[in-house]
Amino acid sequence: MTRTTDVPVRTLPEVPGLTPGMRARVEDALRRPAAQQPAWPDPGKTAETAAVLAGRPSLTTLAEVDRLSGRLAAVARGEAFLLQGGDCAETFAENTEAHIRANVRTLLQMAVVLTYAAGIPVVSVGRMAGQFAKPRSNSVDALGLPVFRGDNINSLTPDPAARVPDPARMLQAYAHSCGTLNLVRALTGSGMADLARVHDWNQDFVRTSPAGARYEALATEITHSLRFMAACGVDHGSLHGTEMFVSHEALLLDYEAAMLRVDDSGPEPRLYDASGHFLWIGERTRQPDGAHLAFAELLANPVGLKIGPSTTPELVTEYVERLDPQGVPGRLTLVSRMGHERIRDTLPGIVEKVTASGHRVVWQCDPMHGNTQEAPSGYKTRRFDHIVDEVRGFFEVHRALGTHPGGIHVELTGDDVTECLGGAQEISDAELTGRYETACDPRLNSWQSVELAFLVAEMLRA
Ligand code: PEP
Ligand code: MN
Repeated sequence: MTRTTDVPVRTLPEVPGLTPGMRARVEDALRRPAAQQPAWPDPGKTAETAAVLAGRPSLTTLAEVDRLSGRLAAVARGEAFLLQGGDCAETFAENTEAHIRANVRTLLQMAVVLTYAAGIPVVSVGRMAGQFAKPRSNSVDALGLPVFRGDNINSLTPDPAARVPDPARMLQAYAHSCGTLNLVRALTGSGMADLARVHDWNQDFVRTSPAGARYEALATEITHSLRFMAACGVDHGSLHGTEMFVSHEALLLDYEAAMLRVDDSGPEPRLYDASGHFLWIGERTRQPDGAHLAFAELLANPVGLKIGPSTTPELVTEYVERLDPQGVPGRLTLVSRMGHERIRDTLPGIVEKVTASGHRVVWQCDPMHGNTQEAPSGYKTRRFDHIVDEVRGFFEVHRALGTHPGGIHVELTGDDVTECLGGAQEISDAELTGRYETACDPRLNSWQSVELAFLVAEMLRA
């Protein structure tokens, strides 16, 4: 794990309702070493920006966050499945209506297939409305410029001035997140999420995909179920809309701290991060003595923690004790990202130890980040086969241990990009250059995403 910049003290803006005790705890968390933070050129300007953000309306409410906590408790108990996905990095330029619609549509298509196959509710969480900050392995890029750290910090434009961190970008990120969330709520609450319509899109996929024949039987079963329900006169509101939550990596602490809000509607005031429903700590910022973990401990939001192949079962139980001190099912989602060659060896010991501790976590598989490779053409890519194999390994491990393979976490887009190799379209190395559009890691395109959902459906039914 690299520590790019250690920032010892960060000013916490005035947050309405923050009690002196809460303030002291947040300040203590923020004083710890924080990896992957930008070196803002003018700390005074950063503090001013944080103060402006702290006065802005919440993006999410504690009632919504609590609803998600309830859903994740069901996942932890084995009664629901978690689907999380979206861009590796959202960007301001690509935050268009077409892009958001395409990503939402892809998640909805996947959710329908998974719901049918699993026979239990699917909890859908987008990597959207805040996924702007990126941890980086190197502080300079291939051109020798300060690396792009995400649109809420600096610009992807390869120019030294554009790479200087600018705190005003946090306000832009907030405004973009508002726009995204507004559209996501509107789309999922109305016509776009209509079950019959989403299923029509999946039938288009089956008709036109080179691998469609393999998935036709499942799609036909869904068609018959929908007809059966219609014949019985079933017309419940839940068939016409769906719930979608939003999430991002809680990486940029100046932004996350400025989005803290206090809910004092209950007997005890509760502190939550109103920048999203679900926040996670990444592989590069989970240092036990670091600020990110201490920050996550204070939140009422459900949180995730990425765990890579070097994580020991002992360390994971330490994380679990800290992030789920009260033993609340689903409070913590452990997102394994081991790589397809290692998951079958590294995950069982971790699952056994956490299960023995009595904590009920959500087990989620990120089959993307352990399978990144450089293609001969030089593009950073991932093979569809490796992604599928890691999910398969994840299911095998949980089936063998009698635990619930609770969900998947994928980098995807509904756009027709060429960033990951393979899938039924058989995207080749030579084709990557056609539409390689990601600002960071390679994403599954809409076809590969829906195909993955059908393959996971087979695993859920096996
Ligand atoms: C990510 O989810 O984009 C990411 C950087 O993941 P990880 O922290 O697992 O490397
Ligand atoms: Mn990524």
